Amino acid sequence: MLNFFKSGLAELNREGLLRKPRVISAIDGTRVKIDGKWLVSFCSNDYLGLAQHPALKRAMIEATKKFGTGAGAARLLSGTTALHQELEQKIAKFKHVDDALLFTSGYATNLGVITTLINRNDIIFCDELNHASLVDSARLTKAQLHIYRHRDMAHLESLLKRVSRIPHRASRYIISDAIFSMDGDGAPLKEMVRLAKKYRAYTLVDEAHGTGVFGKTGRGWCEELGLEKKIAVIIGTASKALGSLGGFVAGPQALIDYIRNKSRPFIFTTALPPGTCAATITALKILRQEPNLRKRLWANTDYIKSRLEEMEFNLRGSVSSIIPIMIGDTKQTVVISQMLWNKGFYVPAIRPPTVPQGQSRLRLTITAMHTREQMDGLLRELSKA
Ligand code: PMP
Repeated sequence: MLNFFKSGLAELNREGLLRKPRVISAIDGTRVKIDGKWLVSFCSNDYLGLAQHPALKRAMIEATKKFGTGAGAARLLSGTTALHQELEQKIAKFKHVDDALLFTSGYATNLGVITTLINRNDIIFCDELNHASLVDSARLTKAQLHIYRHRDMAHLESLLKRVSRIPHRASRYIISDAIFSMDGDGAPLKEMVRLAKKYRAYTLVDEAHGTGVFGKTGRGWCEELGLEKKIAVIIGTASKALGSLGGFVAGPQALIDYIRNKSRPFIFTTALPPGTCAATITALKILRQEPNLRKRLWANTDYIKSRLEEMEFNLRGSVSSIIPIMIGDTKQTVVISQMLWNKGFYVPAIRPPTVPQGQSRLRLTITAMHTREQMDGLLRELSKA
């Protein structure tokens, strides 16, 4: 058996696809220490720097002193502390909806929501670049699955049309990232909502990279486009701009109660640590109280994008702080990433299976905490590369 795994690993190695996580031994703002060397990290999804914010750290420590490090059980058993409840109420208030339900990660949320709402009699339409957690969840439902070309609403419509003869006992769901995690571009929600109405489908949108970043109050890409009320199900995560951990679905009472009672990835797993809930509660407060963080994020993002465009890099229509720098060839991408590493910049090479063959790229994420000097340093090295 082990020989099978060994030959699989050797093949990955030959193709330059073997992965091993880099181990961070210390963090100082945007800098990380790896193998004794300090590097400026351009690969964190901690867009507002909240994972390093003293108020979040304090909240987590205080909650841990009070409730302990672990929740001790699943939510419905005895794992729900006052902090879990408070966080759900705060998320519901933040999202202007009746209620919210927490999961232990964004991945688990997609799994928990999609496999509960959608079953084998239904039909799913899925963008080809949707995050793995949406794709895996869709497969697990055993529903009929139709993949449409990335952001291609004409293709989506042709697929919707094709199944429109199937009797209406089947529910149709269009599921999409709000902001695509590897390309940083946004889902064309307006057109998606129009098609959903025309073909009597529901929309489900994952705001993993929209939460805390887009919209007037940071509710996400759906808020930015003024479409929240038209999307049937909106999912988010606290693991990125909120600097914490744990995913959530927020919406009308009946939807949330149904998921709370039926969702296996909610029912059969230990609750988030109370300290994590306290950190997320504080993150939501800071999002309200420190709008400058988001302004800084956008100023940094606009600055680096305009410089990269001057240098004629292909940024694939990114609307966010996720900036793909397309290289194409996997080995070449790895070499450039290594050159940047040698100069003190941590910019990972993204390669298959995370992205399709031939679309290897450097994936840059900009945060509110990056300084002009750090960005200029990276640009200088990139222009040489
Ligand atoms: N959805 C999308 C679009 C993501 O990019 C990610 C994380 N990369 C997730 C869900 C999973 O979220 P989490 O890391 O909180 O599990």
